Amino acid sequence: MINGLMTVSYIAAAILFILSLGGLSQQETARRGNAYGALGMALAIFATILGAQVTGFTLLLPAIAVGAVVGWVLAVRVEMTQMPELVASLHSFVGLAATLVGYASYLDPHAHFEGADKTIHEVEIFLGVFIGAITFTGSIIAFGKLRGSISGKPLTLPARHWLNLAGIIASIYLGYVFMNAEGTSGLTALLIMTAIAFLIGVHLVMAIGGADMPVVVSMLNSYSGWAAAATGFMLSNDLLIVTGALVGSSGAILSYIMCRAMNRSFVSVILGGFGTGGGTSAAAVEGEVVAISAADTGELLTEAREVIIVPGYGMAVAQAQGVISEITKRLRAKGIKVRFAIHPVAGRLPGHMNVLLAEAKVPYDIVMEMDEINADFPNTDAVLVVGANDIVNPSAQDDPNSPIAGMPVLEVWKAKTVVVFKRSMATGYAGVDNPLFFKENTRMLFGDAKKSVDDILAHIPA
Ligand code: NDP
Repeated sequence: MINGLMTVSYIAAAILFILSLGGLSQQETARRGNAYGALGMALAIFATILGAQVTGFTLLLPAIAVGAVVGWVLAVRVEMTQMPELVASLHSFVGLAATLVGYASYLDPHAHFEGADKTIHEVEIFLGVFIGAITFTGSIIAFGKLRGSISGKPLTLPARHWLNLAGIIASIYLGYVFMNAEGTSGLTALLIMTAIAFLIGVHLVMAIGGADMPVVVSMLNSYSGWAAAATGFMLSNDLLIVTGALVGSSGAILSYIMCRAMNRSFVSVILGGFGTGGGTSAAAVEGEVVAISAADTGELLTEAREVIIVPGYGMAVAQAQGVISEITKRLRAKGIKVRFAIHPVAGRLPGHMNVLLAEAKVPYDIVMEMDEINADFPNTDAVLVVGANDIVNPSAQDDPNSPIAGMPVLEVWKAKTVVVFKRSMATGYAGVDNPLFFKENTRMLFGDAKKSVDDILAHIPA
């Protein structure tokens, strides 16, 4: 491909990525944003493959074919509830790719850099491998934590901050050795630094507890962007630099938003040790639990004037959103005001609930963010908490010893009646007991949320 045409394609792809980010920022335009992103990526791949530097088609084409098939099968098969794990595993691929490209650039027999160029190239390699290696192992641990195969409990080794600091200082020293090595004799320093960065990645994420995982997911997203940008520098690929910077900075902004939503400072999240994921030091919760039937819940809803539905991770597990949408339609047809309250960290992925409700065709204008609706609970007759737990836990406000103390929550207990849909008295992701279940105005509707909403629908005449 002629160089000029390639540059134009890269600029067009970069513009499509920016349009994609803009589109994804709002539910109404998210589908279009996704399409822009896919188009931009297709353009970027074609322009790169057809570029003059690329010659090894016999290796490249089968690799692309295998990757495309694996990606396709995964995307078709993945359940919405497994999405966060998939995203974490994709981040790990970006990290691994940056690490491998770093090694390939260093060992490339055709690369000849002199003077300042050589220094800059080696800094790019060293940094790219460092960030890539941390992203790789950090994402694998995040994958395990989100999947539940690694405990959500933070690993708080003694002197853990010193361990991280020692790792960073050792890496800086190895960087010095690497930069001063002749030819490719810096390989040993690079390998040792990679091993250290792998350990830092594991340790950083292991130290972060269940309640902080939303920030970790977006933080690794950001790291994967910076790793891609470093790869772009190594390969002198402008589009990769731009794309990496877009992902890196949008991930950083998202991390900041998530921190604000949880009332945590970014630094304290990174330093870890918060959120227990297991036993808790919070006050023991006691009291009586009152159960309710689906029939009575149906009656409660039809007699209400205002209803708020709070979806959480359990709604995604049960796939109850379609029936909830139908219940909403029937109640609204009776003149009852129904709205949805979305907590910023509901579910297991930023925007998780919005995606499910959009999929179920719930009108966007009745889906409200936490800040827009939190003051309205006292005027609400009935609140349905469908598979949510941590995001409606009053101990975040009342119990300073709670692992989620200070996290803003939806104040559902201020409504006249709250019905909580869940299968047992188990805790949520952060592993914290929930006093909401024992409040006087709370009713528990036990069972799978899909079965419960099916039964309720049967009691609300169309
Ligand atoms: P929680 O994980 O706190 O609670 C979900 C509840 O759903 C559980 O208590 C469970 O109770 C119930 N449940 C599960 N399956 C079903 C089912 N089939 N039918 C009915 N109920 C079910 O979810 P929330 O959405 O309230 O809070 C999100 C949590 O996840 C927060 O702690 C957040 O920090 C964390 N997180 C969020 C991320 C994000 O980006 N949004 C990323 C990573 C973590 P039971 O087992 O009794 O049914």
